[in-house]
Amino acid sequence: PILNLYMNKFEQLGLNESLLLAIKDLGFESPSEVQEKAIPLLLEKDTDIVALAQTGTGKTAAFGFPLIQKIDVNTKHTQALILSPTRELCLQIANEIKQYSKYVKGFHTVAIYGGASITDQAREIKRGAHIIVATPGRMQDMINRGMVNIKDIQYCVLDEADEMLNMGFHEDITAILSDTPEDKSTWLFSATMPAEVARIAKVFMKDPAEITVGHKNQGSKSVSHEFYLVGARDRYPALKRLADGNPDIFSVIFCRTKRDTQSIAEKLIEDGYNAAALHGDLSQAQRDGVMKAFRGKQIQMLVATDVAARGIDVDDITHVINYQLPDEIETYTHRSGRTGRAGKTGTSIVIITKSELRKIGMIERIIQTKFIEKAVPTGIEICE
Ligand code: ADP
Ligand code: MG
Repeated sequence: PILNLYMNKFEQLGLNESLLLAIKDLGFESPSEVQEKAIPLLLEKDTDIVALAQTGTGKTAAFGFPLIQKIDVNTKHTQALILSPTRELCLQIANEIKQYSKYVKGFHTVAIYGGASITDQAREIKRGAHIIVATPGRMQDMINRGMVNIKDIQYCVLDEADEMLNMGFHEDITAILSDTPEDKSTWLFSATMPAEVARIAKVFMKDPAEITVGHKNQGSKSVSHEFYLVGARDRYPALKRLADGNPDIFSVIFCRTKRDTQSIAEKLIEDGYNAAALHGDLSQAQRDGVMKAFRGKQIQMLVATDVAARGIDVDDITHVINYQLPDEIETYTHRSGRTGRAGKTGTSIVIITKSELRKIGMIERIIQTKFIEKAVPTGIEICE
């Protein structure tokens, strides 16, 4: 036998010969990050997994390769269900799975989705489908009509979970998952982790392994950066309008000085907002008290200096607001890094006057991300 010294990385992930051959045909040279992280984990044992990775990072193969390898082609029953938000995506995923499994003899993948004959799809499933790729709506419909049996599946993949929930498939997904065996593995793939996805994961998954891809660098994609251009006297009204427009806001508001920090917090409290100040003129006990209330979400708007905020490590912060930009532009990165943590998304807002506008360009170069210019919401928009 010839010693193959040129093992490529796909071979190191533990994939079998028929998959490696298909990968060669596809021309994939090396695994993407999400593939490198997910494949060995999923092959090694049956586990639940939550994988967060942006669009275009190769998630289909990240679940598709291990799925194909784990399925027993010798028994005919459906062993895996992949739920995906749209007809187009279902077809695309089924098509990819077919390519990946082309060297596995007798392997069958069937796509089911709305807008096509349900009886044709039912017939196809009857002929045998190791993997079903489905939209939640059509799947639930077919379950209700007794056209499909998922009582014995071992793997359920929720692909683009955030999109599916955005599209209002919550009830269908819940019903479908409740119809599957308790001891199956659930693999959740998503670009973002909004609260609704987290809830699904919590209810339906057991101690999932978690992998996150591409969120770690500066200019992280989980944080969007916005600025609001205001007149010199309009900073405070703009802040109030931002708060009014986001009733569930949970934010840190950065000011430049202790004095401004104190006075903005006082004004907010006076105006009926759930706010508190955090700065170096408070006693340690006072600061601990404020932080405890903030962590417990009794405080929605924490007005802070950079120094005082240094130790803040709170997940779930929805907005970082730069009421004033820091003296050192680099400090912006530390501020905005307070949000978009733990796989969640967040917004970093700069309230800025015309004379400071060039600083936006400087920050953009540092964080390598573009700002979005937003208009301060009007009272009418907030009431809608
Ligand atoms: P996602 O689901 O994360 O949006 P896809 O799984 O649809 O991404 O993959 C995006 C594209 O990248 C597809 O055309 C796919 O064939 C290709 N692709 C996936 N993995 C690799 C790889 N390791 N090498 C090269 N191309 C890949
Ligand atoms: Mg995808």
